[in-house]
Amino acid sequence: MAKQATTSTTSAKNPKVGFVSLGCAKALVDSERILTQLRAEGYDFAPDYDGADVVIVNTCGFLDSARDESLSAIGEAMAENGKVIVTGCMGATPELIRDKFPNVLAITGPAQYESVLNAVHKAVPPKHEPYFDLVPSQGVKLTPRHYAYLKISEGCNNRCSFCIIPKLRGDLVSRPVGDVLKEAENLVKSGVKELLIISQDTSAYGIDTKYATSQWQGREVRAKFIDLCRELGTMSKDMGGAWVRLHYVYPYPHVDEVIELMADGKILPYLDIPFQHASPQVLKNMRRPANQEKVIERIAKWRKACPDMTVRSTFIVGFPGETEEDFQFLLDWLQEAQLDRVGCFRYENVSDADSNALSGHVSEEVKEERWNRFMEAQQGISQKRLQNKIGKTLDVLVDSVSEEGSRSGSEAVAHYKIIGRSHADAPEIDGLVHVESKGRVLPGTIIKVKITDSDAYDLFGTKL
Ligand code: SF4
Repeated sequence: MAKQATTSTTSAKNPKVGFVSLGCAKALVDSERILTQLRAEGYDFAPDYDGADVVIVNTCGFLDSARDESLSAIGEAMAENGKVIVTGCMGATPELIRDKFPNVLAITGPAQYESVLNAVHKAVPPKHEPYFDLVPSQGVKLTPRHYAYLKISEGCNNRCSFCIIPKLRGDLVSRPVGDVLKEAENLVKSGVKELLIISQDTSAYGIDTKYATSQWQGREVRAKFIDLCRELGTMSKDMGGAWVRLHYVYPYPHVDEVIELMADGKILPYLDIPFQHASPQVLKNMRRPANQEKVIERIAKWRKACPDMTVRSTFIVGFPGETEEDFQFLLDWLQEAQLDRVGCFRYENVSDADSNALSGHVSEEVKEERWNRFMEAQQGISQKRLQNKIGKTLDVLVDSVSEEGSRSGSEAVAHYKIIGRSHADAPEIDGLVHVESKGRVLPGTIIKVKITDSDAYDLFGTKL
């Protein structure tokens, strides 16, 4: 769970808001929207509880452990400041918060920006009329300047048995495609070099609006996954080559269409598809599509059409009813699929999730043992796939640079250690590329790197 702090600002006159942002990238985007609007209305941000007139806690309620973390953040804000507004996923179950903290000022649900702002106005009225010129056109961002998350929809029409997102956030609601493209354009204009497209189910984009069209640059554009990807790819190419990375793609058949854009270099050849399992019975219990043989064929087809494709996925082990046979099926599938990047979670009950009521819950011991076997198997696969990159030249987006001193005879010679990411590495969840460079480069630059070594997660190389 990421905990983000806001940066402080200058004016002593304006009311100050403290902000604690917990949870996933989607929650981070909500935080950014709230902060952007507050800044537009003339609020300043306080870096600590003491300096804040009111504190907003954006919570995560997905897993029980995340709820505990959220409750503890609310408790800390109450103890340190006392004027607290709670928003985010836990806001969908206000009784859990009120039971523990009856004096919180307001509780609002996920993506209820207006209600959060109203609660802030009530607690600490803005000093001035809104002055929008204080807000940069790309809004206030919590991520580093060179990459940004772009949320294209809220909610989800699927009903995976382990997930309470549809109960918390409702059915799919897609943003108008014109708004998404405008936001993308502003972000790229402001210097963003990587757009990370997120939602609960990215490939379902526009289904709820029946692919409603928007005017964009004098043309009608449909709010459809493939059309959005095409427009984003063209825009980023025309504007200097920002990367467009797709997250949380559900394996619908129409995902195949986007591979062509990846092969053409318009969208990064990177697919983040949460498969969750491979055994047909476990997938059925999860209420996920269950034709993993076809998926293997499709991955092979994608790799043929786009050889540089990176496939990332996440899995759950120890799901209720998972037998040793199911688990072995998953391990065999994994060997066959040869995915590049994989995350694995041990199943955990989530309050209100339908899977809690399934029979055959797996003991913690067995979950742990299966998790270890899974990780070991995948580590071998990932390591081999990384080794195959040794000797290649890759584009790397620079995240950070540090200067290192060294000596050549009696002379001090500066060299630089760069940490960056290739097409295959999304920020915060994938590996890194560690680069030696004789010259300084700035974060946000895309450089060419000759890969010389690898380990289980990362690559090492030299800047060309
Ligand atoms: S697709 Fe994702 S968000 Fe939607 S129900 Fe399944 S796990 Fe939850």
